[in-house]
Amino acid sequence: MSSGSMTNSEDGLQDKGRAQRQPGALQRQLVQTLDYEQLMNCMRCGFCQPSCPTFRETGLEAASPRGRIALMKAVADGLMEPDAAFKQQMDLCLGCRACEPVCPSDVKYGQLLEQTREVLFEHTEPQPGAIPLRRLHKLAKPVFKRHRRLRLMSTILQAYQRSGLQRLARRGRMLRWLPQHMQTMERIMPQADSRGVVKRAGGHRFPAKGERIGTVGLFRGCIMDVLFTETNVNTVRLLTEAGYDVVIPEEQSCCGALFSHSGDRKTAREFALQNVKAFREADVDYIASNAGGCGATLIEYNHLLAEEAEWAEPARQFSKQVKDISELLLRSGRWNELADPAKRSPDADSRSSVTVTYQDSCHLRNVMRSGDSPRRLLRMMPNTKFVELEGAEICCGSAGIYNLVQPQMANDILDARMDAVDETQASVILTSNPGCLLQMKAGVEREQAHDRIQVMHIVDYFAEKVLK
Ligand code: SF4
Ligand code: SF4
Repeated sequence: MSSGSMTNSEDGLQDKGRAQRQPGALQRQLVQTLDYEQLMNCMRCGFCQPSCPTFRETGLEAASPRGRIALMKAVADGLMEPDAAFKQQMDLCLGCRACEPVCPSDVKYGQLLEQTREVLFEHTEPQPGAIPLRRLHKLAKPVFKRHRRLRLMSTILQAYQRSGLQRLARRGRMLRWLPQHMQTMERIMPQADSRGVVKRAGGHRFPAKGERIGTVGLFRGCIMDVLFTETNVNTVRLLTEAGYDVVIPEEQSCCGALFSHSGDRKTAREFALQNVKAFREADVDYIASNAGGCGATLIEYNHLLAEEAEWAEPARQFSKQVKDISELLLRSGRWNELADPAKRSPDADSRSSVTVTYQDSCHLRNVMRSGDSPRRLLRMMPNTKFVELEGAEICCGSAGIYNLVQPQMANDILDARMDAVDETQASVILTSNPGCLLQMKAGVEREQAHDRIQVMHIVDYFAEKVLK
């Protein structure tokens, strides 16, 4: 059985010598780890194929959900070796999980993918020229685990951006040695703010405005808090305005998505435990996320910690409490009043109308199943003309660090998304996830369309329209 054509040849599984030395161990581990019942649930109907961005781009069965499940099952049945081509197809998957909501058999594809990646992560040795994932994770873990250290790191980026070094590097064309997609990323990188939301907003607790309807614990994120600090501050402001007390537990860590998506579930579990403990102590009604990728990881802590005897039940409770901010704003029942300045004050100006479109965060839509909430909020805004983006549910190509490790596929997908954006004639693209936001910004940069299209986090758009 073939697992598809090779386009990337950088991982250890291609080393024939090594593959001959250890194929049994990898295969045995996959057989033990893969949930065979889930593999059997796939009835090979193919309903998932049209939703899959990698299948749409390549037309290859092996690059589709059905194909990948067939590959996993063939390995589990001992019909094929988990060779380099097998790994390549698992790497090429965006993990966007668009294949899940459309599956009539309710196959938990995301879980199968993470089980596979966990085993591959443990068994694959880095090769010359490839990204040394295990070493990177080892370096990144202490930084992402302690927010203080992350803020310290962000001061370095802040110094680079503000000291004139960045200007110098750009003018001196020093960045031209970077691959094209990294140069684009450098150009669109937001200004770092090492203060984070706690310092910027002035504390860990914020009282509700008006009648209190509940207490929300803010999940501030890692990258989110130092590169999108303003969005976190706006999240606090919108939630308090909607009637929630907001608490920001200091001991929380990164959600672990960066680690679990690339197979390092062990580190992801450590982060999950830290977060479950931190939010349990904070005693909140809800846990608010403003990043679809983080929210989807948090909401699945019940699976991630299912084997932790003492923490399985608290993790289940935690998962139930996790909500995207758009859902919390809807639940408050106050959005209608908040979004319409005329309803709040007869003298308020209605502000000029703007045409916006919305690119889904795959994880918000397919895992948190909250894709409708941002749209409902937008439709209630009187000063906003919301135009639906054709294929908004298709991944933009960001998918964590996918756009960095699979730039060709990510750019092909992005170009198709930008064609759809142009059709809407919107002047603002809204998203609910920092990765999607940067990816859509990269799309605007590739099209040189800065003068006509702005990209914003939906929270910042709401804050600009509702709070100012
Ligand atoms: S839709 Fe579900 S059952 Fe059908 S092929 Fe895809 S994963 Fe299998
Ligand atoms: S997660 Fe996304 S890219 Fe991967 S198989 Fe499913 S739809 Fe395709």
